[in-house]
Amino acid sequence: MTTRKVRTRIAPSPTGFLHLGTARTALYSWAYARHHGGEFVLRIEDTDVARSTQDSVDQILASVHWLGLDCDEGPIYQMQRLDRYRAVIDQMLAAGTAYYCYCTPEELTAMRDAQKERGEKTHYDGRWRPEPGKALPPVPADVPPVVRFRNPPEGDVSWDDLVKGRITINNREIDDLIIMRPATEGANNGCGVPTYNFAVVVDDWDMNISHVFRGDEHVNNTPWQINIFNALGAPLPLFGHVPVILGDDGQKLSKRRGAVSVTAYEENGYLPEAMLNYLARLGWSHGDEELFSREQLVQWFDGQHLSKSPAQWDPAKLAWVNAHYIKLTDDAKLAALMVTLFKRRGIDMAANESLNRMCALFKDRCATTVELADWLAMFFVDVNPSAEDLAANLTEAVKPAVQTLRGKLELAEWSKPAIAAAIKETLAAYGLKMPQLAHAVRVLVCGRAQTPSLDSVLELFARDKVIARLQGV
Ligand code: GLU
Repeated sequence: MTTRKVRTRIAPSPTGFLHLGTARTALYSWAYARHHGGEFVLRIEDTDVARSTQDSVDQILASVHWLGLDCDEGPIYQMQRLDRYRAVIDQMLAAGTAYYCYCTPEELTAMRDAQKERGEKTHYDGRWRPEPGKALPPVPADVPPVVRFRNPPEGDVSWDDLVKGRITINNREIDDLIIMRPATEGANNGCGVPTYNFAVVVDDWDMNISHVFRGDEHVNNTPWQINIFNALGAPLPLFGHVPVILGDDGQKLSKRRGAVSVTAYEENGYLPEAMLNYLARLGWSHGDEELFSREQLVQWFDGQHLSKSPAQWDPAKLAWVNAHYIKLTDDAKLAALMVTLFKRRGIDMAANESLNRMCALFKDRCATTVELADWLAMFFVDVNPSAEDLAANLTEAVKPAVQTLRGKLELAEWSKPAIAAAIKETLAAYGLKMPQLAHAVRVLVCGRAQTPSLDSVLELFARDKVIARLQGV
């Protein structure tokens, strides 16, 4: 355990939506910082200029906010720190821990091709790496150089991964990485652009990051980063590499296999509490607890009990967790969500007491808020009962009873007991069983044969609407 102040970060690249995997490591980083009374930093790794977009930055910030991961610092943008990276590069060049390399892309391709032909693993062969007594090639006039890190030639790089345990890589397996690319003419005030493995180290150093939780696709980058930290004399953070999330087909969760962004789940009617709970549990456990609040997560998340094996995305379990949180959500809060959801469908409505009661009546049977909106649609838009439902439920025997009920409802006090009484009287008058009449009325008024109890549902409609839908049958 380190004695440093706990400072964690997430560092998404703004080349798309916030991926579920990144959201999960963000969540772990955030919870770990909050657990220890530390700080959580948001950094935008936008050095891939060709692929980074403002739209993506906006989506990422919105998703982080939606999940409730409050940041103590940031967003900090790497592209606003180019001067700092340049200054560190200059220090490293002066110290001999970095050097210019003038290889052209063609030369590098030829180098790799030759290595492949010889059956070797492709690597930079160190032709511009300065060594005592070594004569470097003459500097070409027209090749803008990249800067490479002078990786230690031998010895091991090891770290105690917070998730995977001890990991050791021999330096002979690591080549001299490009850490800065030349400035494209006219861009970035002539500053070169750092590569990921270098910028991430300078940032984690400058931002005093004590713990790095990230996806295990970065395990192979960590030895380079550790070597750069060491070359800079910077304190090392602890690293925790979290295994990937697999789709239900056992393959890495990817766009082709369904929704992978936090935004998609928000749009599809999942609540942030449910996503937080489900994502946290996916790859971490606290005993047998499946349902826990944000506060419990913060209380329990101490970086232990992170799973070493990949987690499997389970839509059915997520739906179950979401249903749980929908049930727990206050009716007025759900009503406000409904206003937003219906607005997206082009329907304006007010969040009022009646909408609250509609939410209360249907929320127990919904896995998503979109499903809840689908239920509530019967109150706001015309219903279209299917011919099948009509034929099955609106039999000749039931039709006169429906009309009698309509007559009674026209006169009844508009309350649940009065509606219940009207239904009961009608059943008695025609010798019908409840389902016979109720199904027919539901199909006509609600557009479907199954709903919560008929009197509770009818009461939430305006009387005129019920009468109109029962008319002329
Ligand atoms: N920008 C990197 C990514 O999105 C960050 C990796 C890291 O956390 O170091 O994968």
